[in-house]
Amino acid sequence: MTTTTPLAENQRTVAIKPCRFCGAELQRTFVDLGMSPLCETYPSAADLNRGETYYPLRVYVCEKCFLVQLEQYETAESIFSDYAYFSSYSDSWLKHCENYCNKTASRFGLNEQSFVVEVASNDGYLLQYFVRQNVPVLGIEPAANVAKVAVEKGVPTLVQFFGTQLAKQLAADGRCADLVLGNNVLAQVPDLNDFVEGLKLLLKPHGVLTMEFPHLLKLMELNEFDTIYHEHFSYFSMLTTVRIMEAHGLRVFDVEELKSHGGSLRVYACRTEDRTHRVEPSVRKLIEEEERAGLTSVDSYASFARQVKETKFALVDFLLRVARDGKSVAGYGAPGKSATLLQYCGIGKDLIAYTVDRSPYKQGRFLPGSHIPIHHPDRIRETKPDYVVILPWNLKDEIMQQLQFIREWGGRFVVPIPKVAVY
Ligand SMILES: [Zn+2]
Repeated sequence: MTTTTPLAENQRTVAIKPCRFCGAELQRTFVDLGMSPLCETYPSAADLNRGETYYPLRVYVCEKCFLVQLEQYETAESIFSDYAYFSSYSDSWLKHCENYCNKTASRFGLNEQSFVVEVASNDGYLLQYFVRQNVPVLGIEPAANVAKVAVEKGVPTLVQFFGTQLAKQLAADGRCADLVLGNNVLAQVPDLNDFVEGLKLLLKPHGVLTMEFPHLLKLMELNEFDTIYHEHFSYFSMLTTVRIMEAHGLRVFDVEELKSHGGSLRVYACRTEDRTHRVEPSVRKLIEEEERAGLTSVDSYASFARQVKETKFALVDFLLRVARDGKSVAGYGAPGKSATLLQYCGIGKDLIAYTVDRSPYKQGRFLPGSHIPIHHPDRIRETKPDYVVILPWNLKDEIMQQLQFIREWGGRFVVPIPKVAVY
């Protein structure tokens, strides 16, 4: 045992955190985005006179397993119990989900005798398509306000957090599944090991697991730093994902690269002992691509921070220039990622007067941190801004299509990521 001097103890008051997956000490910063409030908590007018809690948005990369991760500052309960994100508000996302349901139902022969469980099922945005095909489903969703909408739609939903405890209970009740799925939830899980272990326990012996999550390689290549926020604790490469699944008795047998959320992966896994599915070449191919991109060397992760800083300078430059020219600028959308972008770049109402969002929940509220007001989309037609900054840049084609009318007054679109572009 080593003797610790009082001074050495003081130096360790900034606690070194263990990696969420492998437990190694986290020492390497991936990117430091400064201080930021929780990005899915939209203050109302009454909240504006109160303080807002900011947390460090400092991302680490584990030198042992390469899991890129954020520290958790708030309990999952306080973040997700009254979650503002209703999946059903994007047309392209709904289409994506419908296609997924048709495809998996035919690939794995799902029918009236099957059982499908979705973890973080939100408002039933996806399971509704299985319900239409008479496939029995169960949603698991911790946000009661969101789950209620799902139940009203005819999607049975448990209001609970998912982990080994719930998985064991469902298994004991004979409710293991032929298909377990989770979209954009893996990143949001504080206790990653407990969660993935639970997924395995919930699978029938020949059950299939599919998980969709943003792909770290794309995040780095396409400079998607604004997808980093407090509600996303982990950022996965294929390499790390395979390793995590293996540690919990799961074998990844296929992967698809998707365009959603700026570049996502959909991995398919089964129990390690289940030999039904042969491993597709896609798995090896993607791992090799990541190896070529340097994701197995910690130094490759260092260039990201420089690239992020450049993007900030370019965006702020642009907005200052148009502000000085007396042009008006509005935003479109109030996604979680807008908080990171605006907060990190120091952009407030003086540079973007307001934003709009189709979600009635967000209208009349304010973006966290910047307190930029969120209005109904009609506001754009009423005020005719010279520029509209598309904050959910991953939906830029769809949004530009919907907002073609801004051309009537010579309005132009601004897309901030991967670098500022004006259309
Ligand atoms: Zn690790």
